Amino acid sequence: MRSKEIEREGTPVCPLCKRPIPSHAKQSQHHLIPKLKGGRGGPTVLLHQVCHNEIHATLTEAELARDFDTPEKLRTHPHLAKFVQWLEKKPADFHVRTQKSLRRRRK
Ligand SMILES: [Zn+2]
Ligand SMILES: [Zn+2]
Repeated sequence: MRSKEIEREGTPVCPLCKRPIPSHAKQSQHHLIPKLKGGRGGPTVLLHQVCHNEIHATLTEAELARDFDTPEKLRTHPHLAKFVQWLEKKPADFHVRTQKSLRRRRK
């Protein structure tokens, strides 16, 4: 398996938006394969909280498991690609409440 350099000078880099994740920024682990779909103990990636929220506001766990099980695939999703473009101009510790009105809330 190809190992990806996701750290730059000790600061982790978010694989969705490719910006650094400062230690004081809101952040969380995303299971690439949702736990409900057999991903327990599976690979996780560290994301900005705002990126993580956007992923789950955009895609269901079934969609994540089936079509978007890597950060590269997530970046190809039209909505997330737009989100990443928009986020590029924000500071690395930018955070916003994600609108979840269209999908059921989950924690
Ligand atoms: Zn990010
Ligand atoms: Zn997640």
